[in-house]
Amino acid sequence: MTEPTTYLVVAYPPPQVTGPPCPACQGAGVTGERYRMPTDAELALLVDVFCPVCGGCGSADPDHATCDPASHADPDFDGYADLDSREAEAERCPSCHGRQWNPVQAFGLDHGEDPDGDIMLLLRVPCGCTESRAQLLPVEDEEVAW
Ligand SMILES: [Zn+2]
Ligand SMILES: [Zn+2]
Ligand SMILES: [Zn+2]
Repeated sequence: MTEPTTYLVVAYPPPQVTGPPCPACQGAGVTGERYRMPTDAELALLVDVFCPVCGGCGSADPDHATCDPASHADPDFDGYADLDSREAEAERCPSCHGRQWNPVQAFGLDHGEDPDGDIMLLLRVPCGCTESRAQLLPVEDEEVAW
């Protein structure tokens, strides 16, 4: 397999955190590490890894009472409740329900105590509806963890 020369990257704004930020990600909702997903010979998706502590919302609240439900990497999320008008329904992307990404599970090598172990990662994979704002970056400029 040839190495990709270009990364496809979609940037997302950080989650809105109302309470104290998650101590693991400082409210970013993602770990800061990135995962490379090959798409074809020369192009790879460069995706963020959701924070395993807060699940993507960036909040330190263990009950997640005040979180925006859409900010969690929940595969069962079925759209914003407050957008239930017919118009919003029509505009909403049926694949991502308006979040512009979908959570995807992957495995990565554990960088910590067990160098041979796999850890489960939850990736923020851009939905096809974000295609217009995807950026192409040369591989040399970007660092990836996996
Ligand atoms: Zn977090
Ligand atoms: Zn939350
Ligand atoms: Zn979408």
